[in-house]
Amino acid sequence: MRLEGERWRTLVSTVRLGRDEYRVVRPARPLRHAPLYEGYMGVETCVDKAAALDIAMAWAFAMRSPRTVVYLPLRQSDRECRSSDGPALDLVLLHRSLGFRLSKWRDVRAKLRGGRPHTVVCRGMPQERPVPRWSQEMLRGAIVEGTVFVVGSRSTFQAGGQAFRQLIEDCPRHMHEAPGTHCCAEITAKDQHWNWLHVVYCDQHRVSTRR
Ligand SMILES: [Zn+2]
Ligand SMILES: [Zn+2]
Ligand SMILES: [Zn+2]
Repeated sequence: MRLEGERWRTLVSTVRLGRDEYRVVRPARPLRHAPLYEGYMGVETCVDKAAALDIAMAWAFAMRSPRTVVYLPLRQSDRECRSSDGPALDLVLLHRSLGFRLSKWRDVRAKLRGGRPHTVVCRGMPQERPVPRWSQEMLRGAIVEGTVFVVGSRSTFQAGGQAFRQLIEDCPRHMHEAPGTHCCAEITAKDQHWNWLHVVYCDQHRVSTRR
């Protein structure tokens, strides 16, 4: 499957908070199989193919949307399939250039209403250009009040996105050829374990493509 050209149905909201205004984009339908929780090395979500595709499309959209907060309310997911206990978490992707204080998120989220339906056609995840190691930026990851924030830039989302591209475009073949194989995307964030955000296909429901 190619990521490019896939359609992501979203809801777009504009939230006013004091003098500031934020554009928030979230999936029109909840991701059914993507419980997000704290694991040993960072955070982990266990996905089926449909949820993996939604997260990858959200990531590709966030990469190109420096003025938008991308919100994946993963707390609404099926909670059965997970490798560790602990509270269910949400995921938010945003650019550092937005200057968003993470502690404000709770107020922004509380003001979200219905939102305007908008379908995003995924433009894919371009290969990253090699950059010298000394100038490599990294994504930042933080957990604040039950939400996992990934804060980056176009280039850091693009670097992290390669793992999502493989998850969508290559892993279905791996899992077909060797059904029990461990297939995942591993995202690195600054000052965290190298595999800080671990997106792994569920052993039992990996073949489901319901949407
Ligand atoms: Zn794989
Ligand atoms: Zn893994
Ligand atoms: Zn499952």
